[in-house]
Parts: sequence; C-alpha cells; structure tokens
Amino acid sequence: WFSTLEQAPPIEVFDLLKQYPNDDFPQKVNLSAGAYRTNEEKPWVLPVVRTAETALLNDEKVNKEYLPILGFEAFSKLATRILLGDDSVALAENRAFGVQCLSGTGSLRVGAEFLATKLGKTVFYYSNPTWGNHRLVFLNAGFKDAREYRYWDAENRSLDLNGLLEDLNNAPEGAVIILHACAHNPTGCDPTQDQWREVARVIKEKKLFPFFDSAYQGFATGDLDKDAWAVRFFVKEGLELLCGQSFAKNFGLYNERVGNLSIVLNNPEKIPAVKSQITLIVRGMYSNPPAHGARIVHYVLSNNELYDQWRDNIKTMSSRIKEMRQKLREELERIGAPGSWNHVTDQIGMFSYTGLNAAQSQHLVKKYHVYMLSTGRISMCGLTPSNVEYVAKCIKETLTE
Ligand code: PMP
Repeated sequence: WFSTLEQAPPIEVFDLLKQYPNDDFPQKVNLSAGAYRTNEEKPWVLPVVRTAETALLNDEKVNKEYLPILGFEAFSKLATRILLGDDSVALAENRAFGVQCLSGTGSLRVGAEFLATKLGKTVFYYSNPTWGNHRLVFLNAGFKDAREYRYWDAENRSLDLNGLLEDLNNAPEGAVIILHACAHNPTGCDPTQDQWREVARVIKEKKLFPFFDSAYQGFATGDLDKDAWAVRFFVKEGLELLCGQSFAKNFGLYNERVGNLSIVLNNPEKIPAVKSQITLIVRGMYSNPPAHGARIVHYVLSNNELYDQWRDNIKTMSSRIKEMRQKLREELERIGAPGSWNHVTDQIGMFSYTGLNAAQSQHLVKKYHVYMLSTGRISMCGLTPSNVEYVAKCIKETLTE
C-alpha cells in the first residue's frame, strides 16, 4: 500500500530544532525557535502560570472529565474580551463569541474549515512573506485557491502599502484575507494605524472577509490593548471577522495548545447556527479540546491581581526582546558590519527579518552554528547578553567573507 508514497519535505523550523541539541559546538546559538528565552537562555514558565497551576492542582473540584465540544466557555469569554476590549460594542450587543481551539494553529484551522465548508469560501490571501503555516492550514481546511498579497518591500525594508492595497483591490469579492493582528511574523513590520485604516477601507469596499491571526498580543508593544488595535478598529468599522488567538507566546504555554477562535458577526441571531456548524467541525476533527491550559489562562484572567501580574510578565518578555534588538544593532554598528541596521530596532515582536539571504543564512547555520531560518528571520528571544557579540561578529563575517 505504501510503495508509491514519496517523502514529504521537512518543516525547516522543526528540523533546525531537532538538529540543535545534537550540535556540540560550544558557542552554538538557537535563533530559529519562536519561543521566549531568559537572559540565561532558558525557557521561562511565567510566575502567574506556576501560581495558577499550583492552585488548580490543589483544587479537588478540578477533574479530568471531557470539556464540551466548543471548549471551556468561561475561558473563551475572557479570551474574546481581551481581544475585543472591555468597551467593545460587539460584545455589548452580544454579537461576538469565542470557541476554545488548539492554540493559534487550531483556531485558524477550525475557522478556515468553517469558512470553506459552511460558507463556501474558496480563495484566501496571505501576506508575502507570512508565517510558514498559513498556506498549509488553509489548503488542508478545504480552501482551493491560495494567493499572496504584497507586504514587504525588501529594498526599503518597510511595508509595501501600495502593493498591498492594489492586490486587495484586485481580489475577488468574498475572498478571505489573512491579516496578522500585530507583530507580523516574519518581518516584524506592522501597518501604522493610518495604514490599517486604508486596509480596512479596501476590505469593506471590495467586500472581502478579514481573518486575523493574533499570535502575539502583548509582544509587540508590551500592551495588550495597543496590540489589539487593528482588530478592534475593524470591529468598530462594522466589519464581520474571525480571529485566531494563541496563548502560546503571551502565556508561555506553547505545548499546552491553548487558543480561541473569536467570531464577530453583525446579526446575533445567527450565532446559534454558527456554533452548531462549528460543533460538527470540531466533533469530526478532535471531538473536544484539552482543559489544562485553558484553565490556567482562565484562572489568571479572572483574578484581578494575577491579571496585573500577567501583564508585568508580558512586559518583562517584551522589554528583554527590545533590549536585545538595541544590543544587536549597537554591536553590528560598532564592529562595522556592512549595511544599515536600524531595521533591527524598528521591527517589533519576536522576530527580526535581518535582510540576510538564503545562502547567507544557511552559511550562518553551517559555519557558525547560529541557527536561523533561510528567509533571514531570527528570533530575538534566542539572543542574550552573552551571545549577542558572537552573533554580530558572525553576521559581519558572513557579509564580508
Ligand atoms: N500565527 C503566527 C503568525 C505564528 O507565528 C504562530 C506561532 N509560530 C501561530 C500562528 C500559531 O502558533 P500556535 O499554534 O503555537 O499557537
């Protein structure tokens, strides 16, 4: 039965993650993984997560029964609220709700399958470049036609707004447009508020369907509200939308797979129908989601004191990333690495799109054991005060060799 099966290509980021522990080069640096590390290069379990887990462990009412198909509703309510804001008109009008899904990826997948199989959507657009999984998730969910919109102007290392607007203007009515809510992965470059206004205008005029991907709320600016500005603006403009939320990064709950698919519609009477259709999708895919991570997030979001502590934890992470941006840029400039490096500090979020090409990036991996993606994307979280000089030196040597 398997004789004609061909080998599928590896997923670059997970391939590098697998190679890294087996590399015994002493100065190796892991800049491929999109996961936070401390100044000591260690993974960080957020203190609020420890507090919540301890409390849950000692709570005898917590058991291992199944969650409902659409997940832990109290968690989803709070997750949708931090996305849309306490003063959201859509929430006040009961026309927004959430479904607990398997982290950001699972939220995108359930939302995409709903759009493809229940609303008959076939065409979707993603930014060029985008997170490596958008295409696969949407095609696997039943979309037929994957298209790109221009996003990154490589020459000027900035947003190609005109290209973006032109491509959206030419998109067919009803096409689904994937938008990064904040901290665009991989470029670290988000539209300004004025630019978002223009994007929303075209989406409205051309009757396109926005699907936000919010994987980094809190990571871009350190402020949950600011990072949700674009989504909230679209809602204020009366646009119906979907948004996949991940709690992998902002709660450090990568392997717990905590996510929420938020849905905003204009007619609240349709909510029961939407829920019933998503129920069938989830039932046939994984039946119901895991509880532990969602309980942790719910525990923190429903307690004022812990909520404040969580926001401090987010600030700790986003500030360390900003410091490392500053240090990397300073170091590259100090040693005279060719080119300009202001983009390293201009970009936001977890990643920097260095401008290094595929050959240069692979050279950094092979010769210097600096693990990064061949698109030139580095995770700022892998940089520390002890390795930043080494990384800057390797980048300079790669560019001058
Ligand atoms: N979207 C983007 C843009 C991402 O960068 C990521 C994480 N790398 C995700 C979605 C989903 O991540 P997860 O499924 O781990 O929540």
